[in-house]
Amino acid sequence: MSVVAKEIRCSHCNAPVEFKSGEIVTTCKYCGFTTVIQTGQAFNFDHSLILNNYNTAQMENCIHAWMSNGFMKPNDLSKKSKIIENNLVYLPFWIVSAVVTTKYTGIFERISPPITKDGLIEKEYNWLILARNATVFPTREYRVPLTGKIPYDFRKIEGSAKVLNSEIGKDEALDVAKQQIENHHRFLLQQNVDRVVDMSTELELKQMVYLHAPLWFVKYQYKNNMYQLIIDGSTGTVLKGDIPSMRL
Ligand SMILES: [Zn+2]
Repeated sequence: MSVVAKEIRCSHCNAPVEFKSGEIVTTCKYCGFTTVIQTGQAFNFDHSLILNNYNTAQMENCIHAWMSNGFMKPNDLSKKSKIIENNLVYLPFWIVSAVVTTKYTGIFERISPPITKDGLIEKEYNWLILARNATVFPTREYRVPLTGKIPYDFRKIEGSAKVLNSEIGKDEALDVAKQQIENHHRFLLQQNVDRVVDMSTELELKQMVYLHAPLWFVKYQYKNNMYQLIIDGSTGTVLKGDIPSMRL
């Protein structure tokens, strides 16, 4: 597949389309046209973009503000830390909008004698799937700022930013979402029953959106150790922040 795919040119502007092994949806950096590598076909679903609202200097202010505030941080963290890396990356996500229904039968054992209970969990989700295999990212902590979503526009992407292509296709993302939501429902229904005898989950799909969102990947050094931050480039919220131990 990689040999064939290497020869793909953008079917919109004919520029060579760059990608790495394992990537299956790629976006032309010259015109923003998106292609499914396996088929060479144009994208036939929504591709959206969340805008980044920070430049590098503003992001540094944001980082130092985070270092200066909050609990459990060394007092000199902002003063003594050095920002080593501060990179804007547009990560690809799938958003699965669906109504998911789980019917279950279980045993309620908190009374004697135990009783059998039937129940139903029905919820609506915009469930987020990161479309990369190896990236460490706190997907469940991340609330995609969907209000800032626009149709994908390559002209809004900063020249210095990196745009990662999808390694997970639409069907796979849907399967993963269904599995994760079912696990979530399994967790929820434990409030009502102690032992599950039977459960079945159905997903009614409303929409699937392919989306690139701006995340800043930051490395900072404090007293010879390196720490990582991941910051939402739309809102400036720190999604993951390593804090040095107070004993250092
Ligand atoms: Zn192109």
